[in-house]
Amino acid sequence: MKIGFLGLGNMGGPMAHNLIKAGHQLTVFDLSQAAVANLVEAGAGAAPSIAELARSDLELIITMLPAAQHVKSVYLGDDGLLAHVAPAVRLIDSSTIDPMSAREVASAAARNGNRMIDAPVSGGTGGATAGTLTFMVGGEQGDFDVALPVLQAMGKNIVHCGPAGNGQVAKVANNMLLGISMIGTAEAMNLGVSLGMDPKVLAGIINTSSGRCWSSDTYNPYPGVLDSAPASRGYSGGFGSDLMLKDLGLATEAAKQARQPVMLGALAQQLYQTFSSQGNGELDFSAIIKLYAGADNE
Ligand code: NAD
Repeated sequence: MKIGFLGLGNMGGPMAHNLIKAGHQLTVFDLSQAAVANLVEAGAGAAPSIAELARSDLELIITMLPAAQHVKSVYLGDDGLLAHVAPAVRLIDSSTIDPMSAREVASAAARNGNRMIDAPVSGGTGGATAGTLTFMVGGEQGDFDVALPVLQAMGKNIVHCGPAGNGQVAKVANNMLLGISMIGTAEAMNLGVSLGMDPKVLAGIINTSSGRCWSSDTYNPYPGVLDSAPASRGYSGGFGSDLMLKDLGLATEAAKQARQPVMLGALAQQLYQTFSSQGNGELDFSAIIKLYAGADNE
């Protein structure tokens, strides 16, 4: 398929590489020349601007951008995608943004005659490189069916979540729970260890009892419990605290617009904001355990 790919960062770069590996013909654009050069070396063509990319001979355009303001400017700007793209070109936005912005852009695309789906991902940079991402897709069934083989070149678990914006709804709900469960795991681990438990024994009990959750059994925040977890390598790599803060902000904002309470989500957002303001935004999000003074986690 002839695919345009816009946004070649930590996630978009490896995703675009996997599309080339699967035999697709890519035309790419990014503000970073280095990111573009990396894909050109792998066989992609480069477009000099968003408008030029939109006017290229393409069947599909995928975007993977930092936040809603970038997505809106890339799609809706005077010289953006929708101003130049032919109606036959399908659109997929895989950025993580709030559901309302996703629906606004999808409506504008529909008015322009373009079929569009939102397809945010989970699985991090490791999943992007390995081609094992989970895609949560919002849009019409027929558009999901057409996109499926393309998404399968970048991911393993591709789920249709309902109409436009629902991919983002699934993503913010899951990540809000992840933030809350990580803080809960950190709090329980810190309490148990400060009262005299060995952290590995305590985690073993939790992981075979009713407190079991992914934050404990796969990604435990206590150093030394799991060799594979960021906690055991100084909280480097993994999913940054600032990215968790961004996702909790999306969840609380979406909740405000839907007039729904998210008491624990809002508290989790404040805790990650505190942690980030202390200069820890680059650390993996499991480092939130450092907020607990008694944690032996230096
Ligand atoms: P990133 O900052 O590494 O990459 C974003 C890329 O977009 C950059 O290369 C930047 O130059 C480019 N860009 C920004 N504005 C542009 C514009 N106007 N035109 C063209 N290119 C532009 O971000 P990332 O880590 O790749 O994340 C991308 C999205 O995926 C975000 O929405 C993020 O929340 C989501 N996400 C990230 C992870 C992760 O672990 N990094 C996991 C799941 C989802």
